[in-house]
Amino acid sequence: MNNKKPDIKSMDLTELTEFITAAGQKPFRGRQLYQWMHQKCATSIDEMTNLPKAFRDELKEGCTYTVLKQANVQASTQDGTRKYLFLLEDGNMVESVFMRYKTGNSVCISSQAGCRMGCKFCASAIDGLSRNLTPSEMLEQVYQISRDTGERVSNVVVMGTGEPLDNYDNLLQFLTLLCNEDGIHMSQRNVTVSTCGLVPQILELAHKKLQITLAISLHAASQQKRCSLMPVANRYGIEDLMAACRYYFEMTGRRITFEYSLFAGVNDSKEDATMLCGLLSGMNCHVNLIPVNPVKGREFVPPGKEGLLSIKKHLEQKGIPVTVRRTLGSDIDAACGQLRKKYMEIAEKSPLS
Ligand code: SAH
Repeated sequence: MNNKKPDIKSMDLTELTEFITAAGQKPFRGRQLYQWMHQKCATSIDEMTNLPKAFRDELKEGCTYTVLKQANVQASTQDGTRKYLFLLEDGNMVESVFMRYKTGNSVCISSQAGCRMGCKFCASAIDGLSRNLTPSEMLEQVYQISRDTGERVSNVVVMGTGEPLDNYDNLLQFLTLLCNEDGIHMSQRNVTVSTCGLVPQILELAHKKLQITLAISLHAASQQKRCSLMPVANRYGIEDLMAACRYYFEMTGRRITFEYSLFAGVNDSKEDATMLCGLLSGMNCHVNLIPVNPVKGREFVPPGKEGLLSIKKHLEQKGIPVTVRRTLGSDIDAACGQLRKKYMEIAEKSPLS
C-alpha cells in the first residue's frame, strides 16, 4: 500500500489545480501555490503568505513538501565551481554541481540515488541503485543551488549520479516543470540529458519532440570494446544505438552530443579514433572528449595531453565538431559520485545521531 502523502512539488499546474479544487479550494489558488513552489522557490509552506492560513495548514498536514537539506558544500577557489551534497527525506544522499561558464551558470543534477547501469569506470555504479529521484527532488537541486548562490541558473545538465532514462517518467515530469512558464521557465534548449544508451527510451523521447540536447555516453566505437566498459551495451548494441540517435535527430532536429571519456591504453589509440570517425561520419553531431576522472578502486587513467590533442585533431580533420571538456573544480573533488560515496561510507561507519 502506498501511504505516502501527495508530493505537491512534483505536480504540474493542471494536476495541482485539480488536487486543490477537489479539496474545496478555488482554482486560482493552484497557480499561486505553483508559483510559490517553482518561481519563488519557497523553502516552506509558511512562506506562502498570500494563501489563507487554513489552506496552508491543510497543505502542511496532508501533503509532502519536498525540500532538500544541504549536507555539505565544497567550493573551488580556482573557478567558482561548487559541489553540493544533499540529504533526502529518507536518508539517501545526492550530489549536484554548480559551474560557471562564460555563457552562463550551469547546474549538474543527479537523477537517481545510485545507479544500476554498472559502467566499469564510474563511481556511481559501485554500490548499485538505491532508488529513483522524484521530479521534486530533481527540481530542488536546481532551486537550492540557485537560492544558495543567489545567481541565475541558465543551464541544467542531467549528468550527475544515475541514469535519467532509467527514471523516464519522473525525468519527463521534471523537464515539464523546469521549463514551465509559471516556474523558473528554463528554455528546453538550455537543458542536456545524458544517457548510457537505453534505446527504447531514446526512441520514446524522440516522439516527444523536445528541444533539449541529448548526450550519449559512447566511450568506444566498437561493440566489443563498448561491452567491456559498459554492460548496457550487451542489451542495446551499438548499431541499434546509432540508429536511435539518427531517428532522434530526424524527429527533433537536435544535434546529438557524443561523450567519449578517454581511458589511456583502452580507447585512445589511433585505431580507436579512426573507428570513431567512421561511426560518426555523415552525422550531424558533436563530440565531447572527457579525460577520465580516476576513481578509487578502478584502474582507469587519463591519457597525456599529447594523446588527447592527437584524437581531437583526428576528429577535426574528418570535419567532426569536437570539444574537450574543461576540468572545473579540480581542487575540490574527483569524479562525480565520489563525494556521495565518501559520505555514505562515513555515515555507515558512524551513524549520524
Ligand atoms: N547515466 C548517464 C549520466 C550520468 S554520468 C550517462 O551514462 O550518460 C555522466 C557522464 O560522465 C557519462 O558520460 C559517464 O559515462 C561519464 N563518467 C562517469 N564516470 C566517469 C569518470 N570516472 N571519468 C570520466 N567520465 C565519467
